[in-house]
Parts: sequence; structure tokens; C-alpha cells
Amino acid sequence: MPELPEVENVVLSLKKKVLERTFICYWAKNKKINVDGVEGKKIKDIKRFAKYIIFFLDSKEVLSVHLRMSGFLILGKWNLDKEDFLENRYENEKHLDLPDKKRFWQVVFFLDNGEMMVLSDYRKFGKVELLSLEEAEEKMGRLGPEPLVITEKEFKKLFKKRKGAVKPLLMNQFFLSGIGNIYASEILFLSGVDPRRKADTLKERDIKNIYKNMQEVLKRAIAMKGDSTSDFRLTDGKKGGYQNNHLVYNQQKKICPKCKKEEIKKIIFAGRGTYYCPKCQK
Ligand SMILES: [Zn+2]
Repeated sequence: MPELPEVENVVLSLKKKVLERTFICYWAKNKKINVDGVEGKKIKDIKRFAKYIIFFLDSKEVLSVHLRMSGFLILGKWNLDKEDFLENRYENEKHLDLPDKKRFWQVVFFLDNGEMMVLSDYRKFGKVELLSLEEAEEKMGRLGPEPLVITEKEFKKLFKKRKGAVKPLLMNQFFLSGIGNIYASEILFLSGVDPRRKADTLKERDIKNIYKNMQEVLKRAIAMKGDSTSDFRLTDGKKGGYQNNHLVYNQQKKICPKCKKEEIKKIIFAGRGTYYCPKCQK
């Protein structure tokens, strides 16, 4: 699932490419996606909130995109018959005979410069909504703080009275926003903390380490243009680079890069593949 560094890269690139563009019309494969009213609206700003991509429109509305499990946004000019596309909105699997990977396209936005912005999403969980500013604020307001904005002091406070295991806690979007399975595994490895450790047993030093490594890992991942272990692609269709730098994620049975003795172990914990070094993480 795209996490903070992936979504941040999407937003940085969209800001260079689609600011001041106007949505002409859109096609969607499935009725679950209905953003009627987006037509004729101009993109005035684009921001990331947690894992959401938010397009601020000139109508005091926002277009909100969440990539969920396997979504990504690509920009380009394809030779599509726009009228045919629009006539076939919501035709689901029968829609059009889209070749190759285009069959995963869920939404196509036609822009006023002739370009298209496409949500490709093989697992179809991606969410696209047109919201009023108030609705968007309410939705974003429920999410936890941003890991790259929160101070160390505030971060420590978050852990007060928390009893759950540390890894699911870091991934809980109401506790902290933007971190998922890949970065939680990497951050806890660097911090020497077992992913199953209960939050109320963490020493002050552990929380300090988690904070520091969280900043470093996320910033490094942003600089590497995110992680394409799974389906994620940048807006030009290229892969990010962080998947070549995993310390523990997907590294089961490899020798731990820290102690150089123990093998990295994979377990299923809280329903997710969890990777750690039994020697280095306590
Ligand atoms: Zn180790």
C-alpha cells in the first residue's frame, strides 16, 4: 500500500504538472466512483494529508484521492476516443476493450491541455471523492498527526496510556498518519524494538529512537521516490527506489544487516507480514 513517501512524491510531481489545469470531464469504470460536478473546475493547489492526495479546486471544493492497496496516478496523453469513453462510463468490465495494463484503469480525468490523469488500480480499492472544504477538513481532522511535522515531545505524549503493540499502533492512522507496513517494519528494526512489544513497556529512549528513525526513514524514502515493492508507480509510470534498500521488509531468511549473525524472521502479526531480527529487536 502506498504510504507517506509514495504519496508525497505523487503530490510533488502533480504540483509541477497539473496546477492551474481544468478538469474537462471524467470517465470511471465503476459506479462506486462518482465525482459529477468536477467538470469545469480548476486545480488551484495540491497537498498531501496522511495518505490522501487533495486537489483544491477554484470552487471551494476538493477532489480527494486515496490510493489504498494498489492504486497509482499516471499522467500522459493517450490516443483515446473521448466520446466513446464517456458513453461507456460505468460499463464495468464490458466498458471498452482496453489493451494491456490499461485494463486496470479505474478513472480517467481529461484535462484542458489534452493530457489525462489516470487512476490505475488493480485491486480497485482506491477512493476518489468530490468534497466540500468543510467535509474534507472534518475527514482530515480525524486523522493522527503527521510524522514529519510532530515534535519529539508531542510524539512522546502520544504513547501515554497506550497499551497495544507498537507496530499496529504506528500504522493506526488515527494515532499517527501516513505510516504503513513497510516503513513501520524498517523504523522498528533501526530502533531495536520488537514489533510485538507493548507500547506501555517502551522506555523513553526507545520512543526517542523510534522518533528519530521515523524521521530518517521517511525522509530517505521520499528522496528515493518511494517504494515500488508492490504496484506503486510514479506519475510518469516509473518505479520508486526504496524497495532496493530494505533492511528487513521482505528480507526473510537473509542475514541481519546489523548483527550479521541472525536471520531475518517473517511472522504474521496483527494480520500483517512482519519482519524483524530476533537478536537485535527486543
Ligand atoms: Zn540482527
